[in-house]
Amino acid sequence: MNNQFLISLTEKYGAPLYVYNADIIERQYNRMMNAFSSVKNVKLNYAVKSNTNLNVLKFLKNLGSGGDCVSVQEIKLCLAAGFNVADISYTPNGVSFEEIKEAKELGVKITLDNLSSLEKFGNAFPNAPVSLRINPHIMAGGNAKISVGHVDSKFGISHTQIDAIKEVLTKTGTPVNGVHMHTGSDIKDPSAFVEAMEVLLGIATQFDTIEFIDLGSGFKVPYQDGDIETNLEELGTILGARFNEFCTEYGKELKLIFEPGKFLVSESGKFLAKVNVIKQTPNINFVGVDSGLNHLMRPMMYDAYHRVHNISNPNGEKETYNIVGYICETDTFAETRELGKVSEGDIICMDNAGAYCFSMASNYNSRFKPAEVLVVKGQDYLIRERETFEDILKNQIEVDL
Ligand SMILES: *Cc1c(COP(=O)(O)O)cnc(C)c1O
Repeated sequence: MNNQFLISLTEKYGAPLYVYNADIIERQYNRMMNAFSSVKNVKLNYAVKSNTNLNVLKFLKNLGSGGDCVSVQEIKLCLAAGFNVADISYTPNGVSFEEIKEAKELGVKITLDNLSSLEKFGNAFPNAPVSLRINPHIMAGGNAKISVGHVDSKFGISHTQIDAIKEVLTKTGTPVNGVHMHTGSDIKDPSAFVEAMEVLLGIATQFDTIEFIDLGSGFKVPYQDGDIETNLEELGTILGARFNEFCTEYGKELKLIFEPGKFLVSESGKFLAKVNVIKQTPNINFVGVDSGLNHLMRPMMYDAYHRVHNISNPNGEKETYNIVGYICETDTFAETRELGKVSEGDIICMDNAGAYCFSMASNYNSRFKPAEVLVVKGQDYLIRERETFEDILKNQIEVDL
């Protein structure tokens, strides 16, 4: 998607605008499948929360992906996108038992991550299989909020609590069909993965009804020049060999599952915003765009770095800018970036906007959520309309005061 094409999309659909390139989603999907091609039975369950647009879901489903959901609404989105119920997994954390029951009744695969839910599940659904989300106590991840596999994390059941797990399962007669881990986003080091996997395999050997091993995600993608990327091919070779060996030890051909979100969709997305104002203060040259933390909050929430380009003047004389939003709060997208000289009306493009960008958007400051466009082999499709004032009023109840 070149600059001219992206600018033409903002002319056609308005700004701010999310644009996803399906070719990149397909490339990433194939890259991951190829990396694990030494394993006979491998399945990717796309982490739906990273980008929940129905068409993105449909596109991934057509590639052969399953869906991993963290809420019952995400399950319903997958069903609406045409996924088979057998290809949907549910991996909630801290949800009500009513929601777990609803998910079970929809027929999806259930992974539980606490002893209390496990016991309630066993009592409510005698003999129904369940998989266990285990906390392997491995520290990994790029930011405290996305490191979820360490000892003090709220996620998973500690692998040290295996006796308590077995006690609950024996009491309710619940068979375990899989073991799961998800140690957090942005894993740089394959050895952390391998170490955590060993802990998980140790748990799997405690049960004789295992059908799959789910290693979650955390695959890192580069957001800035020089970023270390998870070496997927190397990881695939190492994990694949260990997994195949384990299947032999276990005496059964198991399924290997991953739940990539960011890896599949991050790079596919561009976020396009129009420059409203240029403001020179004594120290800083601000570029104020028609967007803010309401549309793309990763920089403000995680100190995430997104590459920024002035696609209206990419070859202009370079100047240093802070790119900020219009929200009445400090919402800085990027600091001290060199961009081709920016003028009001220019289109600013932010890279890696496919994952955890639109899906985390809000209506703060009573702003509309942006439109979304999917580009498939050069053809653009509007896949979500920009909101209107009706959406802002929706669900508000005016009472006579
Ligand atoms: C968020 C999440 C993922 C996806 O993580 P990425 O870093 O986007 O690949 C996978 N599995 C579970 C259970 C998750 O909560």
